[in-house]
Amino acid sequence: MRQKLVVGNWKMHGSTAQVRQLIEGVAVGSTGLTKVEVVVGPTLLHLGLAAEICAGESARHLKLAAQNLNAQPEGAFTGEVSAPMLADYGVNYVIVGHSERREIFAETDQVVAAKFKAAQASGLIPILCVGESLAQREQGISAEIVLAQLDAVIEVVGIQALQSAVLAYEPIWAIGTGKTASKEQAQEIHQVLREHIAESNKAVAQDIRILYGGSVKAANATELFSQADIDGGLVGGASLQAEEFVSICKSAD
Ligand code: PEP
Repeated sequence: MRQKLVVGNWKMHGSTAQVRQLIEGVAVGSTGLTKVEVVVGPTLLHLGLAAEICAGESARHLKLAAQNLNAQPEGAFTGEVSAPMLADYGVNYVIVGHSERREIFAETDQVVAAKFKAAQASGLIPILCVGESLAQREQGISAEIVLAQLDAVIEVVGIQALQSAVLAYEPIWAIGTGKTASKEQAQEIHQVLREHIAESNKAVAQDIRILYGGSVKAANATELFSQADIDGGLVGGASLQAEEFVSICKSAD
């Protein structure tokens, strides 16, 4: 039985006061939820503060996600942060292959695969994002696109590595646009992803959590999370309001 997972991707938002307020709000609101794992993902700058807050009594049930890492363990890479550094702060998850990083920062499938590998080498759980653009959906090649993105990582790390990873289907046309994939559209791609993994390893396919991301909010979370192959959500905008995010987490519980 896969445990549901809801991850907040705060993107480049937050001040120290907001980080404190948001984590405390999420911690209080999610206390007592037993079936869902709740993860917050502040900026790299705020992870240390977030780790401190999460070490406190009331927030100990929360986990931490980083939004990015560099694939190298250390060295002359000005401005970058490595997997061992994240692990040292007690970070649990790290997002790799987010469409904003693929598009804005020109990260290729090869870079994504290297980051995935580096994350696991330090004991972090990568959350691998895959997703098609609107043009690709309109051409009817959504499945092809997400499978190619997934295969590029499997080629480097092997199928077994997915056992300690999370997959997130994030259609680009639904991210930050207010347009959510319908539950049928999302379920269809999640099933394609799981069946593809099953062709190589049934146990891994059975165990891997596949999150949906793209304008998830309290109003649509329940119907999305009740689909057979949707194991929770990767939440951007709606994770910046404690009450809304908690309500999404409750939909997964
Ligand atoms: C995301 O950034 O991963 C995301 C899904 O954003 P939003 O929920 O705002 O669409």
